[in-house]
Amino acid sequence: MSSTEQRVAVVTGAARGIGAATAVRLAEEGRAVAVLDLDEGACKDTVETITAAGGRALAVGCDVSDAGQVEAALARIATELGPPVVLVNNAGVLRDNLLFKMSESDWDTVMNVHLRGAFLMSRGCQKHMVDAGFGRIVNLSSSSALGNRGQANYSAAKAGLQGLTKTLAKELGKFGVTANAVAPGFIATDMTAATAARVGMDFEDFQAAAASQIPVQRVGRPEDVAGAVAYFTRDDNGFVSGQVLYVAGGPLD
Ligand code: NAP
Repeated sequence: MSSTEQRVAVVTGAARGIGAATAVRLAEEGRAVAVLDLDEGACKDTVETITAAGGRALAVGCDVSDAGQVEAALARIATELGPPVVLVNNAGVLRDNLLFKMSESDWDTVMNVHLRGAFLMSRGCQKHMVDAGFGRIVNLSSSSALGNRGQANYSAAKAGLQGLTKTLAKELGKFGVTANAVAPGFIATDMTAATAARVGMDFEDFQAAAASQIPVQRVGRPEDVAGAVAYFTRDDNGFVSGQVLYVAGGPLD
């Protein structure tokens, strides 16, 4: 596919962690990639990794929970890279706390980034997908969607993303658009490092404790998730839609 025909992917929260690995993986699979995160400058490393390998990438600063910023970012991506027809809603934050200590701000922040962000980005991209008669949406859910102590906000948002995914699959299927969710278990990133710090554990010990509970006896890597996301985004994968794929090193209870 020439660069003029190359399909454009947007990965949110792609400055680091799972989003960065996914952006690089989608570029390896032939997509031009908009590397979107809160701080445009923070996207530099991901963009350089892609361009150094001969790919096309654009750093985009955007808060996915802000409708105006999402609209401006998608307009810029459409102009500078091409119409975005592959969307990975990956941007995420944690505000963990037990229910009795959870503030309204903890609740709203998590809902706004995960759910409102995925809604705004999906709504903004769908017109490009419908015009192209092709689209791939992948939402990052989590094993926490099944319930997790200290994560009333996050587990509700991640379960909500599964409902959003299935609804998008039903609404947009007739336009050649699939929507699926990837639900990781424990993945070693800054997010899980921050959780270790919050509970006062060394990150290596924290990972070892998690690994001992996982059937494959290791924690996940961002690349493990990127591979699952890439699967759902391929051109020839148009008949798998509305699914939730747990990527957790084993089945979950
Ligand atoms: P991470 O290392 O914390 O990276 C998340 C990225 O999202 C950061 O670059 C962050 O930017 C960005 N971001 C936060 N709020 C944003 C906003 N409003 N607009 C745009 N970008 C925003 O997290 P990760 O571990 O890679 O997780 C990626 C996704 O997978 C998240 O949705 C997470 O919930 C999910 N997940 C992770 C795990 C895990 O074990 N790591 C497990 C299950 C699901 P800043 O750095 O500027 O805040």
